[in-house]
Amino acid sequence: MKREFPNLTVIDHPLIQTKLTRLRNQETTTDDFRRLVREMSHMLAYEVTRDLPTELVKVTTPVAETSAPIIAGKKPCIVSILRAGNGMLDGMLELLPTASVGFIGLYRDPATLEPIEYYLKLPVDISDRMVIVVDPMLATGNSSAAAIHRVKEQGVTTIKLVNILAAPEGVQCMLEEHPDVPVTVAALDEKLNEHGYIVPGLGDAGDRIFGTR
Ligand code: URA
Repeated sequence: MKREFPNLTVIDHPLIQTKLTRLRNQETTTDDFRRLVREMSHMLAYEVTRDLPTELVKVTTPVAETSAPIIAGKKPCIVSILRAGNGMLDGMLELLPTASVGFIGLYRDPATLEPIEYYLKLPVDISDRMVIVVDPMLATGNSSAAAIHRVKEQGVTTIKLVNILAAPEGVQCMLEEHPDVPVTVAALDEKLNEHGYIVPGLGDAGDRIFGTR
């Protein structure tokens, strides 16, 4: 039986599930894989921006003058965890074209699976923005948790984590380290294997997005 996590939302819409099944297929080519990640990021962006504040502005239609809503205030910042997070960035930006973008470079030490930071570039005004952290795979959760600690150090108060796939271990790690950060995914898989890969998963997301293996 699947565990319930209070911090987790699984988007089980048939359109996103169909794309995810194609992503999982080892026969899916790099260009299809990249396009599917971008399209799924669209859908995930749509879901996590539901509660953005809006304000009314005046608009004149061909028929009448009226007041209608637009997104209010500073636009969100998308923080990509390098390198696989960049696969989700374009899809997110198509929905949020005025968002600012930050990057956190982390790789997993293959022996300990602990994250090592090698790059950090965040917008100077990030503390005024809602931050959406993107990484296709929430595996151990160590990289996402470390990235979110970095973002919080800048004074950001509203953060959301968006992944394509999660393992229960990663969602649990997020719950322990950042219970205030909601996690949105297309699926919660069964477990991690001994190499830190999500099972059944989709393999190495970075390699499949960038065609490096
Ligand atoms: N990172 C990946 O790319 N795939 C996994 O299954 C786990 C972490």
